[in-house]
Amino acid sequence: MLSFEQARQTILDHIAPLGIERISLLEAGGRVIAKDLLAPWGMPVWDNSAMDGFAVRHADCAINADGTTLRIEGYIPAGGCMEAAVAPGTAAKIMTGAPIPPGADAIVPVEETSEQNGYVTINGAVKLGDHIRFQCEDVKNGECIIPAGTVLRPAEIGMLASFNYLIVPVYRRPRIAILSTGDELVEPGIQPAAGQIVNCNSFAVAAALREIGAQPLLLGIARDNLASHVEKMTEGLKADALITSAGVSAGDRDLVREVLEQLGVKPVFWKVDIKPGKPTAFARNGDKPVFSLPGNPVSTMITFEELVKPALLKMMGFPRVIKPTVKATLLEEAKKRAGRTRFLRVIVTNDNGTYTATSAGDQNTGILKTMIHANGLAILPAEPDFIAAGEQVDVHLIGDQNI
Ligand code: AMP
Ligand code: MG
Repeated sequence: MLSFEQARQTILDHIAPLGIERISLLEAGGRVIAKDLLAPWGMPVWDNSAMDGFAVRHADCAINADGTTLRIEGYIPAGGCMEAAVAPGTAAKIMTGAPIPPGADAIVPVEETSEQNGYVTINGAVKLGDHIRFQCEDVKNGECIIPAGTVLRPAEIGMLASFNYLIVPVYRRPRIAILSTGDELVEPGIQPAAGQIVNCNSFAVAAALREIGAQPLLLGIARDNLASHVEKMTEGLKADALITSAGVSAGDRDLVREVLEQLGVKPVFWKVDIKPGKPTAFARNGDKPVFSLPGNPVSTMITFEELVKPALLKMMGFPRVIKPTVKATLLEEAKKRAGRTRFLRVIVTNDNGTYTATSAGDQNTGILKTMIHANGLAILPAEPDFIAAGEQVDVHLIGDQNI
């Protein structure tokens, strides 16, 4: 049986980024740029003032006990422009961002001047180039401003807007079909009768997909018979990926594997040495991934987080697909089976960068509430069968990352 790390890597090895689409920059936050984007011109476009003040010739402003007095000739507001040169003995009033007029080679901030009757007196020393933002000092013409693989944050969006990139090439968001299986399930909104439960996995997986920017496509419920599985799975295989839940263990109504193979889907593995989530399967329909997750809602969520999410992030072109762990001190001992990776639902606290983790409650996979209380999954490595209280463990933060 594959270890957790082997299973995760095996899946990633079978995944390639999806195609590229061009979308509005305004909608592109959080998406991954698919091509290097170059600056179509230098920035700033021209030398301009970094301050409200006066554009001067610095040679006019040699230090002198009474200051330097210059005649004000010209006014350049933001958006304005002055073609005439600043002549010796004169200064032009200028606002932040306005182009430096010819002849001027320094800006004196208004706070360092006094103005009277059309003259300005400058009190301090003025150096060549003071408070000038020089042409191309930020970005050179042709420079790569956003390399392929960059996740667009507000800073990148702003930079691209400043260069008039209104449509940008990003990796496509996958459409992911979600199929729940089981005769006991009714859809959310339906009152369950005796022996029935509400299908919560489809909603939980849909929410998890939306969180990372993938598009969920809910197929509903396949009943525990071949015809129903075939019908729903045939539909699901048209999407970019298919995620099924339940029906992958050893029960005599567990049909997922059989039907997938019947539909030509090639199995890669059918079990992983993890708890919860051992009956997790990965298969391929041509190049398209098919993830079959166990049906127990806690197992579905944890296997999605640990095995499916990295694969989908890779499909969407994200450069880092495996979430970094934090090291946390486990506050109570944990027993586990040797050889099997154990995911423990924990509450993590962060005291100035020192993390501690404590069990979020009953770790039985039937207890969904523990998942609600948890803000981390402690990853207890395969080998030891016992982690003592006070030992350091790796934790994936889940949910609110601002702890
Ligand atoms: P199975 O793998 O089909 O034996 O399902 C394992 C357990 O998960 C059973 O208790 C199922 O009732 C439960 N289960 C399966 N699918 C869902 C679902 N979509 N929502 C909630 N519970 C489910
Ligand atoms: Mg079932």
